[in-house]
Amino acid sequence: MAEKDYYKVLGVPKGASKEDIKAAYKKLAKQHHPDLNKEEGAADKFKEINEAASVLGDEEKRKQYDQYGPDAFKYGGGQSGFGSQDFSGFDFSSFGGGFDFDSIFDTFFGGGGMGGGRRRARSNRGSDLAYELSVSLEDVSDGVKKKIKITKNDECAKCDGKGGSGEDTCTVCHGAGMYRETRRTPFGMFQTTAPCRNCQGSGSIFKHVCDDCQGTGRKRNTKTIEVNIPAGIMEGARLRMNGEGEAGYRGGPSGDLYIIIHVEPHDVFERDDDDLLSDVRISFVQAALGDKVKVPTLKGEASMRIPAGTQPGDVLRLKGEGLKHMHSFGRGDILFTMIVEVPRHLSRKQEKILKELEASLE
Ligand SMILES: [Zn+2]
Ligand SMILES: [Zn+2]
Repeated sequence: MAEKDYYKVLGVPKGASKEDIKAAYKKLAKQHHPDLNKEEGAADKFKEINEAASVLGDEEKRKQYDQYGPDAFKYGGGQSGFGSQDFSGFDFSSFGGGFDFDSIFDTFFGGGGMGGGRRRARSNRGSDLAYELSVSLEDVSDGVKKKIKITKNDECAKCDGKGGSGEDTCTVCHGAGMYRETRRTPFGMFQTTAPCRNCQGSGSIFKHVCDDCQGTGRKRNTKTIEVNIPAGIMEGARLRMNGEGEAGYRGGPSGDLYIIIHVEPHDVFERDDDDLLSDVRISFVQAALGDKVKVPTLKGEASMRIPAGTQPGDVLRLKGEGLKHMHSFGRGDILFTMIVEVPRHLSRKQEKILKELEASLE
């Protein structure tokens, strides 16, 4: 493995403050998170950033690193004070697809060890949730309010989410709220600091534990939530609803709810941004002479003028009948492609008329 300058990886100077390191990490982690960045090598870069942050974000490790350089952290080294494989890379998959880089970084910060004492973890935040919501093109056209039902860990009503009453220091972590754990992840083995299970990372336990939620402060509950879907929303868009994720452990902050929009295919129209595309069938006589025809819209029907001399494949525009623009006033259009139909069978009389027409065209 190549020698790494963790300061360079995060793009901060040697004397950078914790805040600077944290800010640099957040920026880079967002940029290279494999869920957000599909470029090749993003996962490796993300791993490298986490590695650097896990060392520089932890006072003890940073001191060691400043003194001995990256040698102190080599894979399988085993000679350093940290034992082998002490990269403390972060297993982001355990965060339910969440992008809470703050709490990830706090996990690094909290990694100073049990001796640290009074430091408390903030990892009691509830998980983020994702909900896939299907909407029709008609819904997208003007925007819509939808009610969805979500079953999740909600705040326990009996103890107001606190989990109990009468606080005492946790006897397992002695108030630190954290313990170390080795995990296998797609990127290899990592040691992570995780919240203490006895106290859910809070560092304290209750004298009187709430019997309704067994001290977690959370209860399974089905909740109806109204989602405001703006007009013109695109397939795959994510709407974030602050605090509508799972409740935190023992009064911790709630996670967020992400609504992922799926726009159902439509029988008549295809979508092109805020325009709609469809076909109109007309006879070759209508094409030649021009006509007024009924065409479908999202609201029903409209009449459209076919100009004389319309050619097969011509596109006629019905203005303002498309989808409402999301970021500006007005609407898109409907674009109709002309399909000109030629009769398969003709009567004698029709044939005669067409032959006369042909002769007149020569
Ligand atoms: Zn504990
Ligand atoms: Zn309770």
